[in-house]
Amino acid sequence: MRASRFFISTLKEAPSDAEIVSHQLMMRAGMIKRLGSGIYTYMPTGLRIIRKVENIIREEMNKAGAIELLMPLVQPAELWQETGRWDKMGPELMRVKDRHGREFAIQPTSEEVVTDVVRSELKSYRQLPINFYHIQTKFRDERRPRFGLMRGREFTMKDAYSFDRDVEGMQKSYATMFEAYTKIFTRFGLKFRAVAADNGAIGGTGSHEFHVIASTGEDALVYCPTSSYAANIEAAEALASGERAAPTQELTKTSTPGKTKCEAVAELLDIPLQHHVKSIALTVEAEGKKTYFLLLLRADHELNEIKVNKVPGLKEFRFSTEAEIGEAYGTVPGYLGPINTKLPVTVVADRTVANMADFVCGANEADYHYVGANWGRDCAEPLVADLRNVVEGDPSPDGKGVLAIERGIEVGHVFQLGTAYSEAMGATFLDEAGKPAPLQMGCYGIGVTRILGAAIEQNFDDKGIVWPDAIAPFELVLCPMGLDRSEMVREHTEQLYADLQAAGIDVIVDDRGLRPGAMFADWELIGVPHRIVIGERGLKEGNLEYQGRRDEAATSVPVDGMVAFIK
Ligand code: ATP
Ligand code: MG
Ligand code: MG
Ligand code: MG
Repeated sequence: MRASRFFISTLKEAPSDAEIVSHQLMMRAGMIKRLGSGIYTYMPTGLRIIRKVENIIREEMNKAGAIELLMPLVQPAELWQETGRWDKMGPELMRVKDRHGREFAIQPTSEEVVTDVVRSELKSYRQLPINFYHIQTKFRDERRPRFGLMRGREFTMKDAYSFDRDVEGMQKSYATMFEAYTKIFTRFGLKFRAVAADNGAIGGTGSHEFHVIASTGEDALVYCPTSSYAANIEAAEALASGERAAPTQELTKTSTPGKTKCEAVAELLDIPLQHHVKSIALTVEAEGKKTYFLLLLRADHELNEIKVNKVPGLKEFRFSTEAEIGEAYGTVPGYLGPINTKLPVTVVADRTVANMADFVCGANEADYHYVGANWGRDCAEPLVADLRNVVEGDPSPDGKGVLAIERGIEVGHVFQLGTAYSEAMGATFLDEAGKPAPLQMGCYGIGVTRILGAAIEQNFDDKGIVWPDAIAPFELVLCPMGLDRSEMVREHTEQLYADLQAAGIDVIVDDRGLRPGAMFADWELIGVPHRIVIGERGLKEGNLEYQGRRDEAATSVPVDGMVAFIK
């Protein structure tokens, strides 16, 4: 590839809505472009990474015996009604109507469609086991799309579905997929961990999540460094107490010190400061005292506008076990006097609030009600650490050591489904005796586009992204110095470009004619793992300069030995 014929568009600053490093860097590196909430165009550089991720997945799935097909994005409601998921899925399932008024789902996954394929195509036990997969766009109307590709609404997933004649077969198919996933994430060059995602009561192999390890991850993972025990925090808690532990009564969240009241509250609720948002009901704890009240939140009048304000529409919200909103007025001294926001502000909410559907904030203008304010599920996840019964140093359930905790990003998930879908949809096969029996099913997802965000969260520095070779948009960049001035540089660049390509290296030559500083900054931001600088001075001594993306300094390498050095 020649940079002059490719599209590179980098930014010095990330847009202000990009909250985490991976989102900021992907925006700055020109890999994605926002079209709407949770909806992105994959720009050419980003798409190259996606394709590499997909290719590795495809190769390993094929090797593991899975068969690729492609199921539709738009799926008839009737199929979803058969399994009951049309009703069960709630607002996350995107529904559309055609011109005849018929309803459709935009697929969040494809269990129904694949089960439909299998029930009509598969007749005999002789065709089993079988595993179908596709790499396809998904749509989930996430309550809070955020962090760029990490939690998009439209995203790409690889989803596979295995069908077996019995439980033993299903477990074998599951083990095969588990192994394939291990190979896939190893090939990506990422640090990852597979964790049990169920409580382990019956063998503990019903479901596993694959997590990319990153301190910024949304999920807490519990593992034993001296044994193979690993589980997500929910599963670990369930095991620790025999069953799912009752959550503690309250969630607590504390803001960063030194903010204005408005800023602090907006941070706590994870909402943007908005001029139109007028009121939010809260329980606030400051200087050891807890008060319940409604507050008026106006970004344009920050300090004094935060005060108790009776908003009739909010009465129905129960905000604490101790007081309803109505009662709460009585407990509040009129305004938010005692809170010195130089100190962090802590919000305490009842768990039932955290689990509630969207909480709508009052607004002083029609259509400006803010619906995202809820420290519900999404917000509760980072707080799980506050709730857990499992702590570092606890004995491992397998008795082989003590537990450690780290954070991860869920990039893959494998499930043993059993016969839930096949029974609901009448997907059977005929056994040797000619008797129909329901198919045993497993399903296996990988968040293709989320991998990009997760890889960056794990691999970046102050200059930008550091891609592992296998999924880098380009493996190597050639940076010629003074291409327009020096015939010698031009010739060597062309020769090396051809030689590297012939050696199977995914190389881009930067022939844009930029000054070295700007050129290097672009490729460091984009995260190309290897760089060769071709300059006249070095060439006169027979050398080129090589620098790995993580190297402190460049290394001189003889021109003749460069391809071998790279390989
Ligand atoms: P999460 O817990 O993050 O909401 P999930 O458990 O709902 O994910 P699954 O149904 O297990 O997701 O889907 C399989 C994989 O698809 C996930 O492991 C994840 O990598 C990816 N994925 C799920 N939701 C999203 C999303 N909104 N944006 C990007 N990738 C996603
Ligand atoms: Mg989800
Ligand atoms: Mg999950
Ligand atoms: Mg999952």
